[in-house]
Amino acid sequence: MSPSFTRAVIALGSNLGERNDTLTAAVADLVDPPEVRLLAISPIVQTKAVGGPADQPDFLNMVIAVETSLTAPELLRHCQAVEGRHLRVRGVRWGPRTLDVDIITYGDAVSSDPALTLPHPRAAERAFVLYPWSLIDPSAELNGVKVGDLAARAADFADLAPFDGFEDSRLEDRRLEDRSGAAGAVEP
Ligand code: ATP
Ligand code: CA
Ligand code: CA
Repeated sequence: MSPSFTRAVIALGSNLGERNDTLTAAVADLVDPPEVRLLAISPIVQTKAVGGPADQPDFLNMVIAVETSLTAPELLRHCQAVEGRHLRVRGVRWGPRTLDVDIITYGDAVSSDPALTLPHPRAAERAFVLYPWSLIDPSAELNGVKVGDLAARAADFADLAPFDGFEDSRLEDRRLEDRSGAAGAVEP
């Protein structure tokens, strides 16, 4: 019998070195084993670093969807091995890094284990995860809310910028909606 495959959403980020090359190679590494099949790949977005030391270089972020026969802990080990291959050094928390790979969802799994929390505990407030995710999976929801709507409400949404040739009028539309919403909230 063939093993069953589970859909997982994985977020990648880089703000040190040749960021685009690192993301490209990391996606190839992540889907290299036959146990991990690529389903969808988002455009790259550029974002300001959130948290951690000030004055870090901007991040490039993207999201991929895969289906995998690995268990969730096996998938995490695989992601960490790919980080290691790209010289990820664990230094200061939320500090600059060549590559960060987070598991955002693994099927419908819910876990509060600190070693592997699912869905990722901070994904719902991070536009740099939610927005690229919404581009490849518009009907996806977290906590019962569409990820695109969560993205537009996230504090870092205004800092998202298209990277290189990627253009999406929805980003501009959402920014405008977001700004007018914010202005409305403070008007007497
Ligand atoms: P954040 O988790 O806020 O995005 P970070 O990615 O910088 O921060 P790391 O230093 O990369 O944090 O990871 C710290 C620990 O988080 C890892 O050792 C890992 O075991 C744990 N972890 C818990 N849940 C997840 C998850 N869903 N995906 C990846 N790592 C996770
Ligand atoms: Ca992270
Ligand atoms: Ca991480």
